[in-house]
Amino acid sequence: MTDQIIDVNFNFDNSYARSLEGFYILSQGEKAPAPALVKLNRPLAQSLGLKLDDLEEDEVANIFSGSIPPKGATPLAQVYAGHQFGQFNPQLGDGRALLLGEVIDLVGQRYDIHLKGSGKTPFSRGGDGKAVLGPVLREYIIGEAMHALNIPTTRALAVVTTGEKVLRDKMLPGAVLARIAASHLRVGTFQFFAARNETDKVKQLADYTIQRHFPELKTSEEPYLGLLCAVRDKQASLLAQWLLVGFVHGVMNTDNMTISGETIDYGPCAFIDRYDSAAVFSSIDRQGRYAYGNQPAIAQWNLARLAEALLALISPNSEEVLRLANEVINLFSEQYQQLWLKGMRAKLGLTTIEKNDLALVNELYDSMEGQNVDFTQLFRGLSDTLNDNTDAVRRLFDNPDIFDHWFVSWSERLARDPIGFEERKTLMNAVNPLYIPRNHIVEEALQAAENDSNFEPFEKLMEVLAKPFEKREGLEQYEKPAPDEFGPYKTFCGT
Ligand code: AMP
Ligand code: MG
Repeated sequence: MTDQIIDVNFNFDNSYARSLEGFYILSQGEKAPAPALVKLNRPLAQSLGLKLDDLEEDEVANIFSGSIPPKGATPLAQVYAGHQFGQFNPQLGDGRALLLGEVIDLVGQRYDIHLKGSGKTPFSRGGDGKAVLGPVLREYIIGEAMHALNIPTTRALAVVTTGEKVLRDKMLPGAVLARIAASHLRVGTFQFFAARNETDKVKQLADYTIQRHFPELKTSEEPYLGLLCAVRDKQASLLAQWLLVGFVHGVMNTDNMTISGETIDYGPCAFIDRYDSAAVFSSIDRQGRYAYGNQPAIAQWNLARLAEALLALISPNSEEVLRLANEVINLFSEQYQQLWLKGMRAKLGLTTIEKNDLALVNELYDSMEGQNVDFTQLFRGLSDTLNDNTDAVRRLFDNPDIFDHWFVSWSERLARDPIGFEERKTLMNAVNPLYIPRNHIVEEALQAAENDSNFEPFEKLMEVLAKPFEKREGLEQYEKPAPDEFGPYKTFCGT
């Protein structure tokens, strides 16, 4: 334990600690033997108003490893529960993480500053409270890639290595990720108190959530039903965006689903390369519960768990409350579908709406199934076909005739869409990324950092992913899927 603090001028305002006693345990990070800053997201730090240039580098490393808190922080471990692969666990919580506090950024937005891997907390259960460099950098890479793709996400602020080795399948360098989030309120946070029948606490949490994320509901006659609708809306939009870029989260447990609608907890996640609606990367997801195409249904299932946790607040009439909650949850599928279709229209360069658009999109998906088509290259490549350059896209299909067939339908549809060729191409290229975090390239970057302390491939990759839509010379290798010898990709949890 330390009573040291680092004198900083961060604009902390710790509403969670202040308003939600009983929802956390004050805690301290473990003192790292030799904290070293290996990555700082400077633009993000600046936008948060964190004046890190006034600090020595070792002070920054001490803050973001959790070794010494900055002035104004109230480090705490949040409690939550969660359904993990469908099984309810009533007692989870930050087992290796700390909420340092909330800062108000330069435009008045509130963000949690959160550390992952900062040591044991009262919620560590059997775990060691640590994180290791590879997975920490992975979260950095994928989270920042999502941000650049305009998808709501927590964001990485810094990576610090702790100077100790941590036992996983072998000894690996320990590290801490500092990240920011609109909040760390999860579906599982509500479940924790609902499962204990602490309705007053659920209400306190819901009121806090409304105040923080959905202040427009404060004057609503049905604020808690409104809260459920608001979270559904956010999640429907998020899931549509995930599927539109081929993202697989990998572990959509209810404790990994935010109320704010940000993507959180990048563990065994990955982007698909060849299109497969059943794609699963996580080594522990043997049933395919969190497969690529299953994610919207899982989000809806998770929302139903949130609804259960809120029932007592929505109405005292048990029949009416089920009807109301079901109505809200049932709308998810259609809402998701509409948002996804809207996104698909944009990906296909369609600026008008026709009733057969869904059929056109479905026809494309049917044609991709089993064809080993690289999802990202296909959509990006479609804009090249506008000036009759169809070869590259055709070659993505095992059987190019299948593409030709769909291409005729799409071309007919485009002929009825009013905009010109240049404009369409620009619109399409603004939503179909050229660069995504390719699994083999991510692995290369992590291996170099972990094995050789070589951060160059990581830095280069971050530079590429910062502008996913903008073609740049010399980056061709970042466009391509993994070579065959890379084999099927597997990711791991518990990292
Ligand atoms: P995750 O699968 O990373 O979302 O984590 C699920 C739960 O396990 C959370 O409550 C984590 O805090 C906890 N946890 C994961 N890894 C560790 C660890 N190494 N030590 C302690 N708790 C952990
Ligand atoms: Mg988690």
